[in-house]
Amino acid sequence: MTRSVAAVLADSAERRPSHPALVCGAERISYAHLWDRARRYAAALRGQGIGPDDKVALLLPNTPEFAALYFAVLALGAVVVPVHTLLKPAEVSHLLRDSGARALVWAGTLPEETARDAEAAGALLLTVGEAPHGSVLLDERAEPIDTYAERGPDDLAVVLYTSGTTGRPKGAMLTHGNVATNIAVTAVSPFAFGEDDVLLGSLPLSHTFGQICGMAVTFYAGATLVVMERFEAHDALRLMHEHGCTVFMGVPTMYHALLAAIADGAPAPRLIRVYSGGSALPVPVLDRVRAEFGCEVYEGYGLTETSPCVAYNQPGIPCKPGTVGLPIEGVQVAVADAEVEGRIELLKQGDIGEIVVRGHNVMAGYLGRPQETAEVLVDGWFRTGDMGVQDEDGYLTVVDRKKDMIVRGGYNVYPREVEDVLLGHPAVAAAAVVGVPSERHGEEVCAVVVVKPGQRAGGVLADEVVAWSRAHMAAYKYPRRVEFVESFPLGSSGKVLKRELARRYA
Ligand code: ATP
Repeated sequence: MTRSVAAVLADSAERRPSHPALVCGAERISYAHLWDRARRYAAALRGQGIGPDDKVALLLPNTPEFAALYFAVLALGAVVVPVHTLLKPAEVSHLLRDSGARALVWAGTLPEETARDAEAAGALLLTVGEAPHGSVLLDERAEPIDTYAERGPDDLAVVLYTSGTTGRPKGAMLTHGNVATNIAVTAVSPFAFGEDDVLLGSLPLSHTFGQICGMAVTFYAGATLVVMERFEAHDALRLMHEHGCTVFMGVPTMYHALLAAIADGAPAPRLIRVYSGGSALPVPVLDRVRAEFGCEVYEGYGLTETSPCVAYNQPGIPCKPGTVGLPIEGVQVAVADAEVEGRIELLKQGDIGEIVVRGHNVMAGYLGRPQETAEVLVDGWFRTGDMGVQDEDGYLTVVDRKKDMIVRGGYNVYPREVEDVLLGHPAVAAAAVVGVPSERHGEEVCAVVVVKPGQRAGGVLADEVVAWSRAHMAAYKYPRRVEFVESFPLGSSGKVLKRELARRYA
């Protein structure tokens, strides 16, 4: 039977009351204390009229309050709507209106404009910090509720907004069944969490990867989460040493930054397991991370809509770098012909097609968007919008996002493949390939490059990069245009915003 996701924290509080659940700066919070805090916040929320099925938006950074309130909302049987703190007022306002949140909990550092928008959207303003802008202070000393409200597998637990990498964020409705099952399954494999593991929580807790794979899996196992308010590579390495971290989870941009900090002289800690997800981790980068941290690096694939894990390279079975491994337990992955409307026609092994998923992890739909839901939940499958291929052993490779594919003169070009070739050039530190409009070919392949320290960006290097690409790729694929940048524009989950680059160079 599926229980409430709140049981994740409640069970560990019963099993290991005095073990540290969370470390944040000088604060060490035991499981008993964190669950007590969650139950007090739950009582305070109830005092403000929040009850089962109400949506409560959390606009909180990576702090103990985020964790306590996340489980407080779930304990009431209400629905959590996490909101990233880096969002601009108009984006916050979109999420509040779109989700129909009854309340917004924030830490007292909200721009006045956002506070006004929240009120205009009909949300009650509740704070856990100072209480300006007429918001109500949530009293952490309220008499705690006894325990959590039971929920069924189809009841909503979290409305999690997609990263907005390709467009306006959509609210994925994740049920208690979705989230609780993904946590229980992935805690065993791929994450293989033990009670003595210590994870550095530097991924945003408002995003699916940091929230479900990071925070919730750690709590499920009764292990320890060291939260970091905002990722910075030198600080991350220092914290891993200081707290004896055993596990790290990150998106590829974090690995680039960690490797740069290590090259800069920061010592690398020895870890036991490292996980990457969120976007493609180039194999040369994976190899360097493995060498620096002295452990296996497991790459996997997931989406907000799939709670999030779909497939992962997993401990105990051979890893295949460059792939995202095998489907997690209870989840089926296939590759489909995306052209057939209304029906999913599966392709054979070895063919490239759209990745489709079915299993306990697939969301109930997009909140308030029946049409967009019908476009992705088809014929019993969830269409991911990513192109992929499975090898003879079932390992999945993500070829690229369908939306990022470039069509040059009638030929399909997958940016990821071009990026991998560019990374082989000795002067290239990172590359993002986008399509720009071309009169002659419809679209032209444009490479946006960050150079390694000591390398000179400019016309000479651009010519060299074009020549290198031409020597390593078919004529229709190689970039005719190379642009240099100091760094890429990143979204709130640390992903490169390619649509912004495409717009910039159009
Ligand atoms: P939006 O849907 O709003 O555009 P988003 O797709 O970035 O945002 P997320 O749910 O954070 O929202 O990300 C899921 C996407 O991340 C997948 O669809 C896929 O494109 C990409 N992704 C995740 N893991 C990997 C991986 N290992 N390799 C390549 N791509 C990955």
